[in-house]
Amino acid sequence: MAYYIENVLNGPVLSAKRPIINEYFLSSYMMAIYDGCEFGCPYCDGWSYHSRPFNETVRIPINLPDRLEEELEHVDRGDVIAITSLTDPYQPAENIYRMTRQVLRIFADRGQPCVLMTKSHTVLEDLVLLERINAQSLAMVVFSVLTVDPNLSEKLEDKSSVPALRLEAIAALRRAGIPVGVAMIPIVPYVTDTDMQLNNTLRAIAAAGANFVFWEYLHIPDDRHRSRVNDMLARIGRYPPSYYRDLYGNRVAVDDMYRHERDLAVLSRCDHMGLSVRAPHRMYAGKVRPANEAALLLRHTAYFDTLQNRTHMAAQGRALADALYRGTATEEMIAASPLSIQVREIMRRATPDELR
Ligand code: SF4
Repeated sequence: MAYYIENVLNGPVLSAKRPIINEYFLSSYMMAIYDGCEFGCPYCDGWSYHSRPFNETVRIPINLPDRLEEELEHVDRGDVIAITSLTDPYQPAENIYRMTRQVLRIFADRGQPCVLMTKSHTVLEDLVLLERINAQSLAMVVFSVLTVDPNLSEKLEDKSSVPALRLEAIAALRRAGIPVGVAMIPIVPYVTDTDMQLNNTLRAIAAAGANFVFWEYLHIPDDRHRSRVNDMLARIGRYPPSYYRDLYGNRVAVDDMYRHERDLAVLSRCDHMGLSVRAPHRMYAGKVRPANEAALLLRHTAYFDTLQNRTHMAAQGRALADALYRGTATEEMIAASPLSIQVREIMRRATPDELR
């Protein structure tokens, strides 16, 4: 068990408003509940941002709910807040401190749209609050699922809920009408990226009824992390570090050719299984600020344009998305978009400020 240290938060709870919308989490703001994560998954980027092992000491910001209430006075009720920052909101500390529950209660009282990412089935304990928020705007849960192989999962994320429990929680949330996404983050090269792994994982996610999926590949931000990843690979047993030298060199992210090839492999499986890639428009339509809705629709379309090498279309879509989000789009920009009819329809619901 980790040490829990109660402390008083002096800085802001919410991040600054994002200059562009987050197309994975539909969000304009990010926040973390705890500082540190007892789950301590060996591949987590969180290790690189803490000087002490971030799974051994978890700080509990006891005044976070009060500060959040004050900050929310300055936040638009159509902007999504994402609880996703390198610490799980349903790690064991939540059983004692219930900070996540207090935050959801505040969101429920305001109808503030939110998304939270977790590896824990215990999110179901807050189902009533999620339902309250979702009845007013949007409450979305994103589960992190790397693999559904229990033996492999034990080597990658042994402290979190086993994959079967996460899949059951996805099904339970969907039965309750809560939108659920799955983040295959990270796809670990040579470990969870094989055709067999992808088939099994995506099939299980689709069978559980998730609304959508997205993915990103393992990052290796520094040498300390590289050696942690090498230890993890050694525990898994079949993957020599030399494979990673070919794929990463000294870079943080995987080789572009590998990424493109695997992106298409995941995408074609999702198409085959009828699993949406990125949140489908119907899921957030009318539930977030109109400018955000239009920006998300355009950015998600641009993502597929990029994958299919329609680079110019993708750049144009992103530029319009960002301008709408910031309130600087011109009529000419909208008219030039292949999605102009949908964009205009969405923006008809916008406030004068958003149409500026
Ligand atoms: S549960 Fe998430 S935040 Fe916590 S260590 Fe694992 S990957 Fe990092």
